[in-house]
Amino acid sequence: MKSVIVVGAGIWGSSLALRLADSGWRVTLVEQHTPGHVRQASAGETRLMRCAHGTDDWYARMAWKARDGWRRLGERAGEDLFHEAGLVWFAGRHDGWESDSARVLQKLDIPCEVLDPTDGGRFFPEFRGDDLAFLLWEPHAGVLRARRATQITARLARAAGVELVRARATPADGAAVEVDGEIRRADRVVWACGAWLPGLFDVPISVTKQDTLHFAVPPAWVTPGTPAWCDYDSSAYGHGDVDGVGMKATSDQEGRPYEPENGERAVDADSLERSREYLSRRFPSLAGAPVLFSQVCQYALTPDAEWIIAETAPGVWLLGGDSGHGFKHAPALAEYVAGILDGAHEPEARFGLHERVPARGLRTSGMTG
Ligand SMILES: Cc1cc2nc3c(=O)[nH]c(=O)nc-3n(C[C@H](O)[C@H](O)[C@H](O)COP(=O)(O)OP(=O)(O)OC[C@H]3O[C@@H](n4cnc5c(N)ncnc54)[C@H](O)[C@@H]3O)c2cc1C
Repeated sequence: MKSVIVVGAGIWGSSLALRLADSGWRVTLVEQHTPGHVRQASAGETRLMRCAHGTDDWYARMAWKARDGWRRLGERAGEDLFHEAGLVWFAGRHDGWESDSARVLQKLDIPCEVLDPTDGGRFFPEFRGDDLAFLLWEPHAGVLRARRATQITARLARAAGVELVRARATPADGAAVEVDGEIRRADRVVWACGAWLPGLFDVPISVTKQDTLHFAVPPAWVTPGTPAWCDYDSSAYGHGDVDGVGMKATSDQEGRPYEPENGERAVDADSLERSREYLSRRFPSLAGAPVLFSQVCQYALTPDAEWIIAETAPGVWLLGGDSGHGFKHAPALAEYVAGILDGAHEPEARFGLHERVPARGLRTSGMTG
């Protein structure tokens, strides 16, 4: 039986552990806290599921495939992990990121629709779109119950035979890790350590503090049909009130450098100001809505927002650099990485440890600085 040690029980590590256990590997999953603990990126209350990725079609296909994975996982868990409310992109230009996305989605037969800004009234009780060129509607996008999905994935992994070890692992020689003073070996070791990866290996990842805000909104806004939304040029995104945690309205702009283990998890005043400024521009009556829920999380950003899937020594793999857009892909990514570990295919060259050219088209954020 092939064996693997996966370090990190965020959604990437847990999904991979589950996938490998399902396909007959002996799997050890090492996590320093507990799956779904609030320091990990995967413990965000919600994460958006979208297929649009600008000109890129690899991630678009991956996201579309992952959507099936989430539905299957939900069925297996007996719980709805994906709320398919759809997602509206607010396009400020006719020739920008959204029109590139629309072309790719149409080419891949992933359902989408180009709408007039006045159609915004179909989706939201109040909408100001007079600065917009068009709307791009992805009917099969939506909202993932992220923290819950992470906990459930880890639970299913354990039920599938994965040994979950609570400890902080450090790299040892070869395909091995040191855990509580003991060296554990396996055929493969995968370090899926999110924002902790740059503390363990020399990787092109910078970690930034990201604040998310959810607002208490009037009853007319609290309908299951309220979709998710993104404004790429303004680096703003959010979704309707899912599960009573309020309407998310937050920024995808990079925050300041951050330390994931001991960093203070209090939301900054300027994050609130930025969210309110966007609400007042797009949904004016919500400008004064009170904050209902907030979270501090961190991005593990590569310069080009491409992930890292790289073998650094025989059998030793790094899986990280999700760059703030990795949650949605997890079930499909797990299948892809399992194929690599099985020797069925090589990772794409784009995921290597080469020098990266800065780019941001894979994120939902077109705004710099
Ligand atoms: C504010 C915010 C918004 C986001 N929005 C979206 C979105 O809308 N859509 C989307 O698809 N993605 C989104 N993302 C990105 C998504 O959350 C991440 O891509 C995903 O959660 C990454 O999962 P991970 O498993 O790689 O990392 P993590 O969830 O951080 O897990 C890493 C785990 O490794 C453990 N670990 C680290 N070092 C060790 C060690 N030495 N020993 C043992 N355990 C260790 C940590 O404790 C942690 O549990 C967002 C991220 C943030 C921060």
